Amino acid sequence: KLKPEPNVSLIAGNAMKPDALASCMAGSMASIFVSCTYGEGEMPEMIAKAWEFFESSDDALFADKNLKYAVFGLCSSRYDVGDQYNRAARRFDRRLEELGGQRMVEVGAGDDQNSEGYRGALDPWLEQLMPKLFATGAAKTSLLDPPEPLFKINLAPSSHSNTNFRPLPPCYHFISLESFKSCVSEGYERPAGVFNFSLKDTGLIYKCGDHLAILPRNPTESVDSILALYGETLQGSQLLTIQTMDVNADCPFPKVLSIRELLTQYLDLCGRPSRQFFKLMFMFARGGETRKRLRSLFERDSKDSISQEEFDTYTDQNTYADVLCEFAKEALPPFEYLLSMIPLNTPRFYSIASSPLDGEEKLELLVVKNMWNDSAKKARVGLNTKYMFEQSKPGDLFAVQIHTGILQPPEEEEDLDTPVIMLGLGAGLAPFVGFLQHRQGQMKKLRDEALAEGSEPKKLGPATLYFGTRHRAHDYYLEDYFQECLKDGSLTAIYTAFSRDGLSPSGKKQYIYNAITENPLGFAKGLELDKAPEESKSNKARCYYCGSANGIPEAIQDSMMEALVSKDGLAMRRERAKEYMDLLVNIDKRFHSECF
Ligand SMILES: Cc1cc2nc3c(=O)[nH]c(=O)nc-3n(C[C@H](O)[C@H](O)[C@H](O)COP(=O)(O)OP(=O)(O)OC[C@H]3O[C@@H](n4cnc5c(N)ncnc54)[C@H](O)[C@@H]3O)c2cc1C
Repeated sequence: KLKPEPNVSLIAGNAMKPDALASCMAGSMASIFVSCTYGEGEMPEMIAKAWEFFESSDDALFADKNLKYAVFGLCSSRYDVGDQYNRAARRFDRRLEELGGQRMVEVGAGDDQNSEGYRGALDPWLEQLMPKLFATGAAKTSLLDPPEPLFKINLAPSSHSNTNFRPLPPCYHFISLESFKSCVSEGYERPAGVFNFSLKDTGLIYKCGDHLAILPRNPTESVDSILALYGETLQGSQLLTIQTMDVNADCPFPKVLSIRELLTQYLDLCGRPSRQFFKLMFMFARGGETRKRLRSLFERDSKDSISQEEFDTYTDQNTYADVLCEFAKEALPPFEYLLSMIPLNTPRFYSIASSPLDGEEKLELLVVKNMWNDSAKKARVGLNTKYMFEQSKPGDLFAVQIHTGILQPPEEEEDLDTPVIMLGLGAGLAPFVGFLQHRQGQMKKLRDEALAEGSEPKKLGPATLYFGTRHRAHDYYLEDYFQECLKDGSLTAIYTAFSRDGLSPSGKKQYIYNAITENPLGFAKGLELDKAPEESKSNKARCYYCGSANGIPEAIQDSMMEALVSKDGLAMRRERAKEYMDLLVNIDKRFHSECF
């Protein structure tokens, strides 16, 4: 609503050559950066080139250029390991200042774990930024007319009654589920198991340690509840085409799809509603009471708004689908608007728990069903794991992508003798199941090569696995497989920590990091620190942790230090142990963690 309308360009981080981007920034009224943080605190691939350019540029790049800038980071406090939280955005922000830019507002951190998602931080950040951008202050959006919808829907004349009609989501591949095998005792409260997918004829390939991203599907009951609201005008089997009104944006939907498929695969019906959603509902609302209630849900800190705590409680207990049903009588938006009001389903990531060396054109995941109680003590299940555990069956198609993972096992021939320590907590065991399958494949390859040459097969370095879970009797996942690996030598030693089974023999809580100090000699052997220097590969040993963050990678490093100096182990001098840990963690960066 500003006059004259500001000319805003939205530029993808890799859309321009970095020097052209810098000139564009220098010639603009202001530049606003939005970036996530990748992997272990790195820049996302999309802005890697731009970052390289800014990092290596002369410090006077923007001196006298009057560059005004602001940076907003998209991050998750769940990955808060070391200084990784929002690191890419913070580094960008600092570097632009060094280059002579003028920071308009402090760097923002849109935390995925906030009850309002990234918007929880974005809205207040924008409130600070807008007056700096526009001297007159940013005009508030009108509450009278809903904005134009972002997508236009055209209903096709005929309906498609074949319920199996599943167009491929853009940028995804379909893979089919072959089988599922539970990994927990029967009736155990936290189901977990291995999902086996076939890659035959898909053309998909992956590397050990990669991730599978799955686009989740909404439960039938949520989809039906929305279809019932629009039942007079629309039917689930009706086909439609969707056109995006933003000419610069890619359309996230397939060319043709049914209404049921749109609601099942694309719109995040079971997500947590945002203030923006309530605001748009308000614009369609008629009755005074309904308008009052909706206003109280989108306004912050006004006389009409409810407290943040009440807002959080309400959105914790109600999904987009629930809210639409609750207010349908007096505030049902035209169907077309749902595509602008409800965010798109986002893929869920899984560490691949198999290896391509297996040679069977399959891909396996080790998945734990995500269950929690909401603030009304109602049992809830995560969207994707609900679908996987409760609705999927062999032959079902999953829309997936393969992404490069953070944890990669030693692969080069000269690195195969590297000692490897793997620490998996709960579902964090998954990548290491893949590592072990990979080692079995590598061993077979070395044996075959040796046989052909008539020589002795080369040996892999030792592999030690630490596994933290709850109960030995219920969720010691894949115990039989690990025994098999110990026998064939792909696994050298395994140490377990069952956190709900009481204390360890030495009276400590059974946590994964305590399993290291419980057996300090075993740990030192895992790194080959017990061997004579000329025989030991301890200086290239790698440690991998996968599981929740919560300070665990740091606690593991502390335990490693204690194990090295322990009298029951090698009784290393503290200084020497510190040196070793510093080399491993900070200098060579051979301690990798993947937290979720
Ligand atoms: C790199 C990476 C690798 C991973 N590897 C694995 C793996 O190998 N195995 C594995 O099991 N998992 C893995 N995960 C976790 C996995 O991606 C999913 O997060 C997990 O399966 C849960 O997905 P979901 O759709 O079932 O739950 P979601 O629906 O995404 O729920 C996630 C959380 O959000 C909250 N939440 C969601 N909806 C609501 C709501 N309406 N109200 C209140 N709170 C809500 C809850 O706290 C819930 O715990 C990995 C994650 C990452 C990032």
